[in-house]
Amino acid sequence: MGISLRVLIVEDSEDDAILLLRELRRGGCDPIFERVDTPAAMANALDKRTWDIIIADYSMPNFSAPEALKLMQKSGLDLPFIIVSGKIGEDIAVAAMKAGVHDYIMKNNLARLVPVINRELQEAKVRREHKQAERALQESEAKNRALLDAIPDMMFRISKDCTILDFKAAKNLDSLAPDDFLNMKLNELLPAEVVQQAVYFTGQTLQTGETQIFEFQLEEKGKLNVYEARFVVSGQDEVLAIVRDITERKQAEILRLENEQLAYASKAKSEFLATVSHELRTPLTSIIGFSLLLKEKKHGELNEKQESYVENILIGSSHLLHLISDILDTTKIEAGKLELTIVKIPVPEVLNETINLIKENAETHNVILKSEIDPQLDVIEGDQQRLKQILLNLLNNAVKFSKKEGGTVTLTAKKEGDMAQFSVSDSGIGIREDDMGKLFNMFQQVDTGNTRQYGGTGLGLAISKQLVELHGGRIIVESEYGKGSTFTFLLPIEAIQPTSTETLK
Ligand code: ADP
Repeated sequence: MGISLRVLIVEDSEDDAILLLRELRRGGCDPIFERVDTPAAMANALDKRTWDIIIADYSMPNFSAPEALKLMQKSGLDLPFIIVSGKIGEDIAVAAMKAGVHDYIMKNNLARLVPVINRELQEAKVRREHKQAERALQESEAKNRALLDAIPDMMFRISKDCTILDFKAAKNLDSLAPDDFLNMKLNELLPAEVVQQAVYFTGQTLQTGETQIFEFQLEEKGKLNVYEARFVVSGQDEVLAIVRDITERKQAEILRLENEQLAYASKAKSEFLATVSHELRTPLTSIIGFSLLLKEKKHGELNEKQESYVENILIGSSHLLHLISDILDTTKIEAGKLELTIVKIPVPEVLNETINLIKENAETHNVILKSEIDPQLDVIEGDQQRLKQILLNLLNNAVKFSKKEGGTVTLTAKKEGDMAQFSVSDSGIGIREDDMGKLFNMFQQVDTGNTRQYGGTGLGLAISKQLVELHGGRIIVESEYGKGSTFTFLLPIEAIQPTSTETLK
């Protein structure tokens, strides 16, 4: 068995083809071949299989070697193409070689055939490898270019005298990259102070061989942008300047600093409020305590005026105590330090206790209190004191914002799936549509005129909302201005993972 060779023979004479094949076999080849003698047949042969070599007669009745060569070239192949001809002049042979034929052999000198084929196969192999290497280089260059393009920086190669030798634009810096600024000097493009910096840092880079980093500002289209430039040595007497737009980063830094300052101020405010509230509570407790002693007349009678003064002291100081408690809660919420003490709450008992607490107040306002408690809702898991606080706040508001002539306030409690639903409805003054969104904000009293008249801190609903959410619940309000309001909150019957207000913010 010889060396396998796939040979396409372009030859009209079958006899000549047989001679060729015999020569190939004698030279140690084992040819797989096809003989064609028309362009169509050759095109078909090229199409349907892979060939190692093409051997063509120069002229045939319906075809010729130059035509066959063109056909091969057109099909994008680069196979060794050898002419084997009986009669071919020197000049024709030279022209054929110029056109791309690799060699020509006279039919009477077929002994050359196999050595020529071997040489051409070897050369074709080298050509193929060379092409592959070229393709690989092109691919790698394309990859590098893509990588470079993906970098959001603009790059300049700058000579010692600040001439731009090369550049890569950055999409977001297009105003700095006119197409024609190659070979321009920096001072033709940039303001004097930036050029001064560039000149200085170019010198420093070349002198020290170390990367130089500096920032500069440019006013573009009425906007002040900030850039960071890195200068690195990139050759004899030239630097590579990598320029990045850091405007957004700078703005974010400023914002972060402002936020830090705000957070610090807010923390300081909370700490101050907490300390002051705490310090106020101690003397206030004794004011209330001693006033109560006076009111109870344990140490002597009071005249009518004194009694009324003591009553005023008690009302004022209780109000103050309430306010201080609210402020303390608020600071705890803001600091994320408010935590719940989860217990099993006997719902009907707690609701009745709470209603009892506001009975007197309701009577003063001519408000009838009603309660509808679902017997199925007997126990829920939650913070008992905080539940009372929420309910008291809603009930107090419902009474406080009742109409002058009085009205009704209804407390409803029922089971809603795995939640307990509490509602406080009133037939009071109601809330304007526009004000509904503000209700739960700290220190928000929606109708300042009216609220002054009603009194309050504007903290109750904000605290209630936080407390409800801390339980894993939610609170909503429905109201019709002039007709009344309903505040509804839902708490999980079984406590969810304990949370603190930190996670609610
Ligand atoms: P405060 O009652 O101390 O003013 P809240 O946070 O409890 O503070 O309430 C905020 C505001 O919401 C009140 O000032 C009032 O304007 C409005 N509001 C609350 N509850 C009612 C209600 N039941 N009817 C009408 N307005 C209400």
